[in-house]
Amino acid sequence: MPTAKSSKQSKQTKVLEHQLRSRLAQLKNHLDLLRKEMIVEDEVDDEAMQASRNGNRELAIITMDREVRHISEIEQALKRIAQNEYGVCVTCESPIPNNRLQAIPWTRQCVDCAGGGINKSRQNMLGQPAFRSALAS
Ligand SMILES: [Zn+2]
Repeated sequence: MPTAKSSKQSKQTKVLEHQLRSRLAQLKNHLDLLRKEMIVEDEVDDEAMQASRNGNRELAIITMDREVRHISEIEQALKRIAQNEYGVCVTCESPIPNNRLQAIPWTRQCVDCAGGGINKSRQNMLGQPAFRSALAS
């Protein structure tokens, strides 16, 4: 029975690594599919059909762009796992909580650095007297 403290962390990291890898495979498959659809030769005479096809193409480009970025995020996370740097915020270097890693396994930042600003401003808004009285009435 393993007693080393690090074994627990590495087990969790292994689970997340598995999730990252399967998500990466999924995204790459989908991206391949989109690419193949893009390559298909257009021989459409119908203008309306051509227009809708162009619309689909634009949408596909946006989706591909988003997926390519997501793939690179996941690949960077896998690289950090390989280098034993996974789960540490790249901005403040504090450990990223497990529940955040489970929700967003490819995250590079802790809650404060990634979305803290947004949450804080929302809290400030709730702290405004006008807002409070609106809630009270
Ligand atoms: Zn941080």
